[in-house]
Amino acid sequence: MNVLLVYAHPEPRSLNGALRDFTIERLAAAGHTVEVSDLYAMNWKAVLDAEDTTARLDAGRFDASLDSKHAYKNGLQSADIAREQQKLMRADMVILQFPLWWFSMPAILKGWVERVYAYGFAYGVGEHSDVRWGSRYGEGNLAGKRAMLVVTAGGWASHYGPRGINGPMEDILFPIHHGILYYPGFEVLPPYVVHRTSRMDETRFETIRRELGERLDSLQETKPIAFRPQNAGDYEIPALTLREEVAPGRVGFAAHVA
Ligand code: FAD
Repeated sequence: MNVLLVYAHPEPRSLNGALRDFTIERLAAAGHTVEVSDLYAMNWKAVLDAEDTTARLDAGRFDASLDSKHAYKNGLQSADIAREQQKLMRADMVILQFPLWWFSMPAILKGWVERVYAYGFAYGVGEHSDVRWGSRYGEGNLAGKRAMLVVTAGGWASHYGPRGINGPMEDILFPIHHGILYYPGFEVLPPYVVHRTSRMDETRFETIRRELGERLDSLQETKPIAFRPQNAGDYEIPALTLREEVAPGRVGFAAHVA
């Protein structure tokens, strides 16, 4: 497989740095081709702005969506964006690795998503009409590829348990899993999460490497999270709410997993 690792940590000698190196070695040893986007090392520009296109639609007013559409369609995107899109298109499997910062991804990685996920590439894809709301949530340009998060968190597993104070980890990661990965078409594998990172010693680090190694060895066989496809009958169109008979009584994030 071609694996793209998008990695966001400012310090190579960190726990994340060690897990990144381990991941690259493990995947390469299994015969996979690994490409790495090391966002801090690349000095990745995190903010989406008018500099992202080489020729704006309207010099007087920048429109984040329409300028993105125009630039993507006409080959006018800044080169760093186009390069990352090509890496995504080459990849069979994409891993996003990051420390949980303020209950989400570090800003540099969010900025990678905002800039690389252009209009026409990751959204605004497919037929939009009264009977169809585009090719997304299970369909789209990244369909047929798989994705997985590798996340480290300072909080304990119990803090992120079903009744933990931080809220369940699957809820915290839902906007990334469902909104960022499933939306443009990825099949999303369950995440690998390291909790309580301040309590690390050699024995625990060894366990983490073994567990992560097992996950990396089984990327092709692991069952994805069973998100409900938008265009397979579970949702009313154009309201895009679940049909009454689907998961009756269930609401919130969990209702969108079959
Ligand atoms: P490091 O700090 O580099 O290392 C963690 C431990 O692993 C250390 O004890 C280190 O000695 C050890 N270690 C490092 N490398 C190795 C190695 N090769 N072998 C063995 N041991 C090693 N946490 C939450 O739960 N929720 C949040 O919302 C949240 N928000 C945050 C916001 C910010 C801005 C910051 C800075 C932190 C936040 N945290 C939060 C904590 C954060 O998630 C953790 O600090 C982070 O995940 C730890 O990863 P690291 O790579 O930076 O670890």
